[in-house]
Amino acid sequence: MATSISDIRSFQPIERTLMGPGPSDISPQVLQALSRPTLGHLDPLFIAMMDEVKQLLQYAFQTENPFTIAVSAPGSAGMEACFVNLVEPGDTVIVCRNGVFGDRMRENVERCGAHAVMVDDAWGEPVSPDKVEATLKAHPEASIVAFVHAETSTGACSDAQTLATLAREHGCLTIVDAVTSLGGVPLKVDEWQLDAVYSGSQKCLSCVPGLSPVTFSARAVEKMQARTHKVQSWFLDQSLVLGYWSGDGKRSYHHTAPVNSLYALHESLLKLYQEGIENAWQRHQTMHQRLKAGLDDLGIRFVVDEPYRLPQLNAVYIPDGVDDGAVRQHLLNTYNLEIGAGLGDLAGKAWRIGLMGYSAREENIALCLKALGDALR
Ligand code: PLP
Repeated sequence: MATSISDIRSFQPIERTLMGPGPSDISPQVLQALSRPTLGHLDPLFIAMMDEVKQLLQYAFQTENPFTIAVSAPGSAGMEACFVNLVEPGDTVIVCRNGVFGDRMRENVERCGAHAVMVDDAWGEPVSPDKVEATLKAHPEASIVAFVHAETSTGACSDAQTLATLAREHGCLTIVDAVTSLGGVPLKVDEWQLDAVYSGSQKCLSCVPGLSPVTFSARAVEKMQARTHKVQSWFLDQSLVLGYWSGDGKRSYHHTAPVNSLYALHESLLKLYQEGIENAWQRHQTMHQRLKAGLDDLGIRFVVDEPYRLPQLNAVYIPDGVDDGAVRQHLLNTYNLEIGAGLGDLAGKAWRIGLMGYSAREENIALCLKALGDALR
């Protein structure tokens, strides 16, 4: 930090390799898109680009939902947008918790004045469909089931399709956290009939942080339209935002869009489309297998059992006797490499090695294995 304000100069960050839980590395093309000339947010050229962002987001989410947009704020705002619009005071919401972000969902439910019925699973395990089914049977008054598809705090992937089927069979809508899953593992919003799904720009989309793609099914839109209480958040009230994103040519001011960040999102989504989403899923899986082989050689064990492991978030136990902080510091200082610390129950016990989006590359894996091998010598 500068000693006096007059010593402050332009900030010139050094280039790190980002292999933590997000943000991930951003490709040069996406960074270039960010620095293109700023347009007015109601400029017809910008509005036409937003229509393309919407189309590209529909592709990424594998949905034809017309209500598919990017909330102008990080993933937590996408989460909040889903809860404040779909949950009303007095509602009962079944919330699945197998890590940090399930608990954040509970917070959201309670702040909406609703009742959260928790379904708990151990950290590192996926959400149990059997427990969810039993809870749905015990709580016929529930109207929503909320769960995290890809738990970033543990690296566990839950079976979103099965959980959504169960919810539907019991007359519930689903709110699904796809912050870490979008672009990294199969996520099929229409085929799996998910209702409100939110994500983040900074994980497997490898865009700048600060945008939250969301999509709402027709059933979710119907529920929003039938609300009896006003949405308590003006900014996140999706009925107001929709006027800004709707493709009907009557674009009206709601808030000033983060214009350049949306250029970057457009570019990162275009790259995903050009790669092909199935190819992107496969690339994450292939890179995960390469990383795993190297970690096996170093004697490092995974937190999550193989069938539920996320390829893009590799949570591994810190070997006995190894100083967590010293290793991560060594990686950062010597190799300009960031890996993630453990979070919550896994703090001090695990590292989280991200292979998200543009970070899921051979050279990153080689660097990470070399750096870890060196640090653990
Ligand atoms: N949900 C999950 C699963 C996440 O991993 C994160 C961020 O890491 C969030 C929600 C919150 O996203 P943000 O940090 O962009 O607000």
